[in-house]
This record gives sequence, structure tokens and C-alpha cells, in this order.
Amino acid sequence: MLLTPPRVEVHWLRVGHCRHPEWVTLRGGRWQPVDFPAHCALIIHPSFGPILYDTGYADHFGEETRTLPNALYRWVTPVQLPIEQQLGSQLSALGVNLEDVGRVLVSHLHADHVAGLRDVPKARFTALRADVIENIGRRGIGAVRRGFLPGLLSDDFDRRLDFADDCDAVDLGTAWSPFTRGYDLLGDGSIIGVPLPGHSPAQLGLVMWNTDGQPVMLVADACWSTRALNENRLPSLIARPMMHNWSRYRATLTDLHGLRCSRPDLQMLPSHCSVAHTAFQATQRESGALVRG
Ligand SMILES: [Zn+2]
Repeated sequence: MLLTPPRVEVHWLRVGHCRHPEWVTLRGGRWQPVDFPAHCALIIHPSFGPILYDTGYADHFGEETRTLPNALYRWVTPVQLPIEQQLGSQLSALGVNLEDVGRVLVSHLHADHVAGLRDVPKARFTALRADVIENIGRRGIGAVRRGFLPGLLSDDFDRRLDFADDCDAVDLGTAWSPFTRGYDLLGDGSIIGVPLPGHSPAQLGLVMWNTDGQPVMLVADACWSTRALNENRLPSLIARPMMHNWSRYRATLTDLHGLRCSRPDLQMLPSHCSVAHTAFQATQRESGALVRG
């Protein structure tokens, strides 16, 4: 790992959303329906070029959920994906074509995170081994119960897949404590993968330094909102079946809350939080770092 890792340009993109009462994902939350957006990141690396962290929703989600049993997923989370939020549209506005994306770092294989994998024909994929092994052979109701829609993965997914666990392990020291170990996903220290287990068996979070010098942590579904992160507040029990391992989810959320308290400077971005998205966009505008389109 280089002593001074390269900084990367981070764009946090909203790619579709569903709606549900806030109390479902936040214990003590409101009864009114609220947006539950799906975010993904376009990360522009100075040498490796455009990289994605997840893809959010895509039209493939609608195609894959037309009939039972996959339609159950669509009924539970009716998805809206306005054309201006399509991943391809947003990348184009930033001067990037889908064909230019060289790698997708996959947090986990739930459909709201991987629905666009078929749209990046030249990308390789990186995921933690346990998340792939848990899902890859599942079909039908056994798959959809876990939020996995196998048809979203390209036929050559296996051949394009690299395991994050096979990258060099790195010691993070105390800077990201209690997270002390990660995987050097690109080999230059610029993007470190950090396991955030519980929501899924392993779940890949990322830490990196933005071009404005700010440390950024992408936490996927290890917590669902900034308020949950700040208050160490769990989802309602009705959300428990969505978790692979509830006690590990609680432990990971507590660790993230500990980091939040000790590093208020750190940008921590849950994949489904509108508040974090708005705050991140505001800091980017203030720094003038990222606005291209
Ligand atoms: Zn999700």
C-alpha cells in the first residue's frame, strides 16, 4: 500500500426509490410513508477510471419481478425510477459511459443494489465471498425471500467476479476504530473494503478519501439512516426477517455508531438515506470539488 493513497472523486447518486412508513426502518419513526431511496456511488480513480459501488435500481428490476414468486418483492417494495435517475443518464451527465465502468464493488446481492449489473458490459465485479456463496445457487421463493433475484446477474457473472477477501488485508490502525482491518481493493490503498456483516452474511463497506481531502465511508445497509447511525437506533422488529443475522446487525450498527461519535468529520453514507445524500451534496457544492453536470 502506498504511504499516501490516491484520492478519488466520489459522486453519490440516487437511483430510484420505494416508499414505506418510516417506523419500519427506524424504531420510533413516523407513520407517514417516506421515500426509501437507493443510492450508489460513482467513484473516479485517477488511474483506474470510473468504478461503481452498487448500481441502485434499473429497469431490469421491473422485468424480473413481473411474475410470481419474484413479484412478491415488487409488491413489498413498489419501485419508482424516473428517467432522470436512471444510472446511465446520471453517468452521462458526469461524462461517463456505462461501457467505461471498469469495476463494480458490490456491497451485497440484494436486488436494490445490483439491478443494473447487466448494464455495465465491460466491468468486473468485486464482492465478499460469503455474500456470493449464500445466494448464488438460490432460485424461486428461496431466493426472493432473501432479496436476491438471480436474473439480475449476467450469465458470465462468475467469470467476471473477484472476491474482495482475496485482496491484501490491511491494518487500518486506530483512525477508523472499531474497524481495524480491511481489504485493499485496488492495491494502492485508495479504496479499502470493510466487512459490515449482519444485514447480509458479510456486506462490503468502503472507506476512502475524497478529492477534497474528506474521509468517506459507504456503509450500504448496515444502517438505514443518519438518525439510526447517530442514535444507534434499530429498525422495527418487522424488518428483522430482512436481516441475515440480527445480533450481528446490532453489533455492526453499534460499531458504526461508535465511529460516528469519535469521527464527526467523517462522511458516512447509508445507501438508503435522503438526509445523508442531501448533506453530502451540500458539502460537495461548498468545496466546489465535484460539480460537473
Ligand atoms: Zn438495500
